Amino acid sequence: MPYQPDEQTEQLVDAFKRAIQRIQNELNRIDLTDFQRANANAVMASISEILTNLNEEAAAWVEANVPLAARAGVAESIVALGVVETLSEANTIVKFNRVNKALVEAVIADTQADLLAVTTNVERKVRSAIRQVTSEVLRENLASGINGRKTIRGEILSGLRKTLGDSLNTGIIDASGRRWRPEVYTETLAQTKLMNTHRDATLNEAVSREALYGIISSHGAKDACRNYEGRVVKLTADAPGNYPYIGNLRGGRDIFHPRCKHTVSPIRNPDRYI
Ligand SMILES: [Zn+2]
Repeated sequence: MPYQPDEQTEQLVDAFKRAIQRIQNELNRIDLTDFQRANANAVMASISEILTNLNEEAAAWVEANVPLAARAGVAESIVALGVVETLSEANTIVKFNRVNKALVEAVIADTQADLLAVTTNVERKVRSAIRQVTSEVLRENLASGINGRKTIRGEILSGLRKTLGDSLNTGIIDASGRRWRPEVYTETLAQTKLMNTHRDATLNEAVSREALYGIISSHGAKDACRNYEGRVVKLTADAPGNYPYIGNLRGGRDIFHPRCKHTVSPIRNPDRYI
């Protein structure tokens, strides 16, 4: 059974969901009819605290789970190359070579930075929504002194509620302008990082054991990946033979896209698979 990052990812996504729910609760608790700057500051402080805790939890998750993904890749590589027969045997001899050590360190730093960017963005969006709502409430209350109305009209209140809610729901905008809920974005990010780590660790272990080819896994993909299932690839650009070099496929549109579940199983002799 090839590596799947779903369970690991779920732990992180749960942490994000819980934090977002707590922030949502803080926003719901706001009494908009009598919202003052001091209230706004208190709400913002609670939200900052929730996000600080989330950052710690996320950083610890990365620290624990990126090495796990890499270990799984190394273990599968060892089995695929026939060094030992079972994954459990392989797990007892897994060691990170120099390249994999560097890989794991780099991915940890990278992923922590990416997740921090998510929470920073959430905080910025929510803060800006709270600021906007506060000034609208203050202005409405000021006006009510003039027009004799005691409370803010219902439709204005629900508009303000929507502003607060939207700040959480569409907080993240990616490079191609798509809007994401933070927990969905986080799920894609985590899955992709773990799969890439697993794949790269597999290949690094394979090359260090002088296996220069790999076969792309098959699970009956429906997307463009299907054209690559079961195909032989080169693990280094200079390996002999007319096979696509995996480095040229990576990060492409066709395979190894975000959330791609395809793995690569190393082989020494590609002739046997044609
Ligand atoms: Zn795929």
